[in-house]
Amino acid sequence: MQTADLVVIGSGPGGYVACLRAAQLGMSVICVEKRKTLGGTCLNIGCIPSKALLHSSHLFHLTSMGHEYGWECAGIKLSLKKMMARKERIVQKNTAGIDYLFTANKIKTVFGHGFFDTNSLTSDNHRITSVTAHNGKVTQIKSRHVIIATGSISRELPTLATLDHKVICDSEDALSFEEVPKKMVVVGGGVIGLELGSVWSRLGTEVVVIESQPHLLGTMDTALSKFILKTLTKADLKFHLSTAITGIETSTNGATISFSGAGGNEKITCDKVLMSVGRVPNTHKLGLENLGKILDDHGRVIIDDSFATPAQGIHAIGDVTRGPMLAHKAEQEGVAAAELLAGEPGYVNYHTIPNVVYTWPELASVGFTEQELKQQKIPHVSSLFYLRGNARSKVWGEDSGFVKMYAHKDTDEILGAHIAGPHASELIAEIGVAMNFKATAEDIARTCHAHPSVSEAIKESALDCMGRSLHS
Ligand code: FAD
Repeated sequence: MQTADLVVIGSGPGGYVACLRAAQLGMSVICVEKRKTLGGTCLNIGCIPSKALLHSSHLFHLTSMGHEYGWECAGIKLSLKKMMARKERIVQKNTAGIDYLFTANKIKTVFGHGFFDTNSLTSDNHRITSVTAHNGKVTQIKSRHVIIATGSISRELPTLATLDHKVICDSEDALSFEEVPKKMVVVGGGVIGLELGSVWSRLGTEVVVIESQPHLLGTMDTALSKFILKTLTKADLKFHLSTAITGIETSTNGATISFSGAGGNEKITCDKVLMSVGRVPNTHKLGLENLGKILDDHGRVIIDDSFATPAQGIHAIGDVTRGPMLAHKAEQEGVAAAELLAGEPGYVNYHTIPNVVYTWPELASVGFTEQELKQQKIPHVSSLFYLRGNARSKVWGEDSGFVKMYAHKDTDEILGAHIAGPHASELIAEIGVAMNFKATAEDIARTCHAHPSVSEAIKESALDCMGRSLHS
């Protein structure tokens, strides 16, 4: 039997970061991973490959816009094989990076499926994690602490359609299509649906998004969901909102989707259906039934503020627990959980976790949305600065977005911000830092921002909270 201070089940951004921080703090650490490579959903089949395809497809799309920027490009041809090969190289480099970090920090990896047996708690209050290796051999690891970081998997709607991974696909399939589909129906207008819908639309697929809610992107600020609906519609994606799918029939080459919405009962045929209706916590065959009541009604592992589950010695972080299913949330929790186990004051400020959609332009949010401020009756002022008043956005030919900010009416403390614009994913960090330091809108407004830069729009939006924007 192997021993360690800490066993982490899962090597996604939650798990591998927990391993690294625990090792920095002097613990001996073993990571259990059932995939053949480290990095979890994020590096292998999520954030990284999707962003690689978004970037490639964006550049491909931009080449066709040469006339706007001052060049003529004839005969541009897509090589999907090469685009996919580039994506694979990026994934491989990133997962190899985790191997390197694990070696440098003396973290051991046991590849195989981890689970808890009926007698996983020892008489000296340690835990035994059992691992079934890919060759079927079962090994055991004894540790004082275990962190479950097993992430999430795509939600399926079996009453509507079963994934066959050829016609009815999930996000993992849509990251590796071998040919550009002619027509794809995206079921679900959330982040993953809009990002992968954008990729294939830019490469030539006719994309139709069907969403049951009256707006896209679930709980994001309504200003952002309205903006992206308009922008992607202009980019030739089609949307059916407030629409219920009533049936999906598949054949070898495609599917027919029946749905009912504003236009009555309709049907569409397509060659691919991307089911992107959210993700569910992954607790598959973990043996959690051997640990007592450890799951909540949504199937998430129950944790307290220190990430402890009701089962002694077992903690949980990331997608498998409550909160937004985001890689950076999992990472923050990984750090905090390891610090708390080592007796340090680990902490996550959930209010300042940013939320990004990597469409073009990008959308990024942090803090309260307008809906939340109204619901909670928090007195606030709001600002809206359009990027058409920002020189750098014009230079980039991307001036259709905005920066919206909320500040407390009495204290001027920044309560939230929502950006639609180029590189919003990078810009939102400024507001996150400001909010962590409880900065006011005036603090940002008085900070000198480089010119010309899109970040000046954040300063202008902060000025607008005080009713004195200079460039709008
Ligand atoms: P995961 O990354 O899911 O890792 C869990 C790991 O545990 C996996 O490697 C799995 O193999 C392993 N595992 C599971 N069960 C066992 C077991 N019993 N034994 C051993 N190993 C096990 N988030 C963002 O923040 N930004 C993005 O841009 C973004 N884009 C995304 C795009 C797509 C297409 C998808 C699908 C997701 C995206 N996400 C994004 C979400 C992000 O990937 C997750 O929030 C993040 O990976 C969660 O991290 P985690 O460590 O909790 O779990």
